[in-house]
Amino acid sequence: MTYIFTNQHRQKMSIARLGKEPWNKGTKGVMQAWNKGKKLSQEHIDKLSESHFKNPNRYWLGKRRPMGENSANWKGGVTRRLSLLRSRFEWKQWRKTIFQRDGYKCFDCGDMGYLEPHHIIPLKVGVERAFDVNNGITLCRPCHKKTMGKEVELARTYFSFVQCQV
Ligand SMILES: [Zn+2]
Repeated sequence: MTYIFTNQHRQKMSIARLGKEPWNKGTKGVMQAWNKGKKLSQEHIDKLSESHFKNPNRYWLGKRRPMGENSANWKGGVTRRLSLLRSRFEWKQWRKTIFQRDGYKCFDCGDMGYLEPHHIIPLKVGVERAFDVNNGITLCRPCHKKTMGKEVELARTYFSFVQCQV
């Protein structure tokens, strides 16, 4: 019975495909799934990396092990970030260089309060550019938070600014 059902189903599918644009239906499903998954994991990774960089000690005390469904995914991230942690000096230097270049004020609003260096190309996209001065921009804390999840669309704006500065 199962076999017959599957067979009928397959036939229906292939007929349906013949009638419509083949890529239209298929791509739509794939893209939705890709978008959804991407957005979730991006936010997740950003949150984790942000808290890790801001306060590594508290991060490690609070979360001994990666949690949730992304744990398998995340283990890779931990290994990468651990190696970044070893170059804390580089991180500090990078931060300082960017703040100095941008005049110790937020690129978005000009605030000079609590500043944070923002990675134009997110670390998960290009870890090798973690300490690239051309890959950093000064943002205040509220503005930095606003960039979360919008890294890709903002990257162009920030990048052109940094290029002008060099
Ligand atoms: Zn700001």
